[in-house]
Amino acid sequence: MPIPKKSKELDPKTIRVRMYRIGFGDCFLVSFPLSQSKKGDDTHAHVLIDCGVHPNGRIGTMEGVVDNIAEVTDRKLSIVIASHAHADHISGFDTCADKFAQFDVGEVWLPWTWNLKDKEAAKLQKKHTALAAALSQHLAAAPKSKAKSAIENLTGNAHAVALLNDGLGVSGKAKYLTAGDDLEKTPIPNLSARILGPPRSVEFLGKMDPPASQHYLRLAEGGVTESPIQPFQKRWLANREAEEMAAIVLKSEEEKELETTLGSSVEDLAFSLDNAKNNESVVALFAFRGQYLLFPGDAQYGNWTWWLDHESPEEILPRVTFFKVSHHGSVNATPKRVVEGMSAGKFAAMVSTQSSPWSSIPRVPLMEALDEKTKQRIVRSDWLDIDGAPKPSPETAPAKPQKLPKGFQQGRLWFDCLIPC
Ligand SMILES: [Zn+2]
Repeated sequence: MPIPKKSKELDPKTIRVRMYRIGFGDCFLVSFPLSQSKKGDDTHAHVLIDCGVHPNGRIGTMEGVVDNIAEVTDRKLSIVIASHAHADHISGFDTCADKFAQFDVGEVWLPWTWNLKDKEAAKLQKKHTALAAALSQHLAAAPKSKAKSAIENLTGNAHAVALLNDGLGVSGKAKYLTAGDDLEKTPIPNLSARILGPPRSVEFLGKMDPPASQHYLRLAEGGVTESPIQPFQKRWLANREAEEMAAIVLKSEEEKELETTLGSSVEDLAFSLDNAKNNESVVALFAFRGQYLLFPGDAQYGNWTWWLDHESPEEILPRVTFFKVSHHGSVNATPKRVVEGMSAGKFAAMVSTQSSPWSSIPRVPLMEALDEKTKQRIVRSDWLDIDGAPKPSPETAPAKPQKLPKGFQQGRLWFDCLIPC
């Protein structure tokens, strides 16, 4: 079957979710069908969710990906969503700024924590920036490590953040979102969105590690290496707010004392900050002609628990027909309760992942649970062969099948999930 190139070639009764293989990062283009009033009208309107790659997870596809987005959308994006301020979600808006400047963008959706007119957001960002700078300085001379990778993902994003805050050149079109927002109308006819994250509460933003009962802890056959994003020491968890954590600005003379007092290493601190940032993710549940598409960014435990406790997950989860797996399939990013709450065989899933720079991503037991729950309708980005890019490890799951699951197709730099509607 030929791969549709232009939106015009897309079936008018199909939602297409295109997951690009971008490296370690996320870049999803979702195309929703429009009712055409006359011949020659656009058949689909497009939503771009994230466009970034981790500095240590690049595979050289970014330029080609952005060129493809330009081609299939005719440079028209109704909505751009930047889920959170990590390089692996937004670096492309910086490195390909010239290309994005030529797009016609309707709205840019951002987490409330980016709104510098919001006093609480401004305070949080100031503290996070100071902490990230101190940690970055501390780790600068250190050899390559998982903590260093976490900090490198956090720093150097100021330009992308500024461009997105500016509505990608369309000043005034940035929209700051908070859990509980109900967007009954969007720039796309018939598309509505319920915003499930990030929570307004900085306490929830600081919650990162699920209790063991919400983990997929079972070791896969052949064993799984420990998560690089280690379970944090108790004192770093729920009882310690992100606010409080971020208030600590490392000064060299204080550093040792800090480590002793907290019983936590600088590395733990780096992971804590990294996770707090993931919890700022915009979580969008799209509703379109009876289809429900859940895009949680890199939401981790605090973000998820907020809406699982404050919304009606028993109403939402069983309806989901498409799930973008959170945080590249890491251990602490999809609570068991979420997978268990979705209807077996009703939804398809996509995970943008690769085992570099973090070898324990994606988490094998979680992938197995999703494989089973979707009835093998799950596709991972690292199944796509790209010269020089990491291949899935032989112990990982699910393994690439002979034939893609029903409803999926493969392109040069992407997989498509086609959802009839
Ligand atoms: Zn990410």
